[in-house]
Amino acid sequence: MEKAIETLFQVFRKHHKQLFIVGGAVRDMLLGKAPSDYDFTTDALPDEVESWFEHTVTVGKHFGTIGVIMDKKVYEITTFRKEASYADGRHPDEVLFTDDVREDVSRRDFTINGLLMDERGCVFDYVGGLEDIRNGMVRCIGDPKKRFEEDRLRKWRCIRLAAEKRMELDERTRSAIRDNPDTAGVSIERIRGELTRIMLCEKVAWGGYLLIKTELLGDLLNRMVPEYWKRCEDYLIDGFEIMGYLPKKLSLRLAAFLLNMFPEERRVFLREMRYSNKEKQLAYGFCHHVVADSQDSVAFKEALADIGMENAEDFLAFQDGLAYWDGDPSIKRAAEQNQRVYRRIAANREPMTLRELAVNGKDLTDRGYQGEAIKESLIRLLKRVYEYPEENKKDRLLAWLERETHGETDLPEGN
Ligand code: ATP
Ligand code: MG
Repeated sequence: MEKAIETLFQVFRKHHKQLFIVGGAVRDMLLGKAPSDYDFTTDALPDEVESWFEHTVTVGKHFGTIGVIMDKKVYEITTFRKEASYADGRHPDEVLFTDDVREDVSRRDFTINGLLMDERGCVFDYVGGLEDIRNGMVRCIGDPKKRFEEDRLRKWRCIRLAAEKRMELDERTRSAIRDNPDTAGVSIERIRGELTRIMLCEKVAWGGYLLIKTELLGDLLNRMVPEYWKRCEDYLIDGFEIMGYLPKKLSLRLAAFLLNMFPEERRVFLREMRYSNKEKQLAYGFCHHVVADSQDSVAFKEALADIGMENAEDFLAFQDGLAYWDGDPSIKRAAEQNQRVYRRIAANREPMTLRELAVNGKDLTDRGYQGEAIKESLIRLLKRVYEYPEENKKDRLLAWLERETHGETDLPEGN
């Protein structure tokens, strides 16, 4: 155990207070994984905890949580709580402290998150969590219907947990969601956070399957892109299956999710989910430009320029994953062809942007071009160079432009 954690236990012992590691950390240790962070629970009151340590941050004193800082890490310590009623489906109306740890674990969401560990490493289980860990089962503590009504985010949390931890969803827990998949009142940021974690996990197709079968995904899509949901209900799983063939990067996996949508639906979904501008642009770009069976290297270069060369490897990984999932030889060929073109571009440093073009705006103004004609001519020149990279020389390009503007046709030497 970390040194800081030993110190924490010592301090609480000295003050004759109980302290347990609780929740995700105990669960992960029992699953043989290193916990990402440690949460603690105690019968000491927040003010007491605050007074025993030199460095603390107030995480949510009203909710009983004090952050103790040791070795540059924050350890969150929450006073045993029982919760009173929830009126809004998300936040408890009031917080009541208790000195009974059993009440504290009973208010937690799932049995695998309701386990306690003391300083000797003994595990205390008042909710049946150990058996569910053994059987790989995510199950609500108490009556699922009631627990989901208290806090509708739990519907997303349990599927995320099942996907992340490679677990099953208990039958009653699952049907409680399907009977009422509504998540009104839960902020879109919270839902997006859970969806993102599902998209990025190993068992992403399993997560997608649960989201679809419980109709939780339908509830979300129906609010944003109802036509898409109606049209593609039977194909929703495809996107999640494709994700399994992609690197664990949000922009890529999100692009797979968007593949079957119309462009306008993609825009609406990305906007409503409030993804960052960067994620929006990348995900949209990847699926918008994905190959059908094009062997046209100019079109591919245009796509690359729009997506940005710095994202080229991701774009290629996206096409490869899609081709692998799809199995259609023509898609596979196109993806491979694009790989070859990209390697050639990189090896020869073929010009991809206006910045790399041997002609700039000033060269054109010097020759009498004005206004719109400048931009248009530069873009024409760039396309020319996409096709014939060796033509990227100022005099050659300008001469070509002159001839083009005067209606003559031309091929570079040797063609
Ligand atoms: P991870 O940190 O890997 O996301 P975690 O289980 O630690 O997993 P947290 O969100 O840090 O997740 O929550 C800590 C603990 O608080 C949970 O294990 C659970 O016991 C409890 N908890 C969290 N969210 C809820 C909720 N919405 N309803 C009830 N209990 C919750
Ligand atoms: Mg945690």
